[in-house]
Amino acid sequence: MTREDIVKQVTEGLSSGKVRPWGAETAALELGAEEPDHITLGTMARRAYLEEKSGVKLNHMKMLERPYYAEYLCPEDGTEWTLASDDEDLTCCLCGSALTPKTASGKPVCKPLVQNYIGGTEDYYSLAGEVSVGGDVEATFTNILCYGTGVGHLGVGVGCFQLNRYNGPIEVKVADYAGAARNLAFVFDDESERARARGLINDNLDPIIAQMKQSFLDDFGGEVYYVDFLEKQHHSDRILHCCFYTRFGEYRGHGCTSRATGVAKNYIDEMFTREGVKCRVSVIGMGRDGDLKPSPRNRRGRYVSALQRIPIAVYEKNIGRPVDDLLSYIELDRQGVTEELGWPAYTGMGGEIVPAFYRTYKCNPRPEIVSCYQKVWAETRGGDLIFGVELPNVEVGIISGPEGIVPPIAREAMKISGIKNAKEYCAALAAVTLGGEFNFATLHIKEKLYTGR
Ligand SMILES: [Zn+2]
Repeated sequence: MTREDIVKQVTEGLSSGKVRPWGAETAALELGAEEPDHITLGTMARRAYLEEKSGVKLNHMKMLERPYYAEYLCPEDGTEWTLASDDEDLTCCLCGSALTPKTASGKPVCKPLVQNYIGGTEDYYSLAGEVSVGGDVEATFTNILCYGTGVGHLGVGVGCFQLNRYNGPIEVKVADYAGAARNLAFVFDDESERARARGLINDNLDPIIAQMKQSFLDDFGGEVYYVDFLEKQHHSDRILHCCFYTRFGEYRGHGCTSRATGVAKNYIDEMFTREGVKCRVSVIGMGRDGDLKPSPRNRRGRYVSALQRIPIAVYEKNIGRPVDDLLSYIELDRQGVTEELGWPAYTGMGGEIVPAFYRTYKCNPRPEIVSCYQKVWAETRGGDLIFGVELPNVEVGIISGPEGIVPPIAREAMKISGIKNAKEYCAALAAVTLGGEFNFATLHIKEKLYTGR
């Protein structure tokens, strides 16, 4: 059978469900593919299947010609090297010696770069099943993730599959607006001058906000919905914070908010000069506006939550023990994260799945740390176990605005997945995070993770 015929047959198997996505390589091997070419052919079949399913041609998500890796050893110092097959430098980075394959035969044994690899030359994209959501967003998304090497993304796929099987679509709730905030800070030598300055700003908020809107917010459908003041003191410094809160329907809004607040600063500085206000320091005080920091006050991004209801009896059958044991596990881990971080937050796997999602879609922001703030919760209500995640600060810049390029591979990835707007992005993110957390928690309480049981 020719290579083309093998790819065609495996693709048909994927479409009919006879071949599971992670079985494409094995299916190619069974049809007579050579090793390690079966890995290439399996990947080609998964791509063809995905193109057929989504109607999107994979132009930018290029696949490596040899999508596999092999393990090597340094004969000099014994170090191990797992290298992608497109890496032509087969020397040890530590001592410069030529590496040798880590096999008795001396022939390298090749394995797929990542499970369910579908493309990508630096970030390896892989297919992680699909997920259906209902509630504020009704859709079925094809999950693709740049998780890294290893098999973690399969846990996401398994978790999503199980959650959908238990009770249909995962219920999601997404905020209507994405928030952004930028804070101005002023330092005075005495309290009466601070009070006068605060009064002046407060009296002029209407023209200040009008200028902000006209210069940097109107074009992006943004508005200032709230302004707050906070007075602080550091020894002799009498500090006044003035934070502008904005919100946007579709844009991320961070860049426009920063520039709009710069307009407000100029207005205020001129007003202080004109009125003879003795302000010693006038700056953008980013420490108070949650810039690139997770904030329990949700000053950045968009709130999204996802949950699934599972009949307790069904879940207990799955884990083979009382559901209370799961609740004990969730609580001991929640307590652990809270105390270790010194911060009333639960990050769960948000620090892994959320960045994988952002690496995949490469929208703005690129440093996605704000969006990783995540809480996992579980409770029993009536006869159901409710398992949920909340992500209060998801930033989404599918439309980049003044914040720079969203690359073509990112737009391609969104089309394959079926994500068309900011709310859907949030819904898909919350659903895969829930799927990953659910799979993780279930394996932990079954004592199956890392134990080989
Ligand atoms: Zn070496």
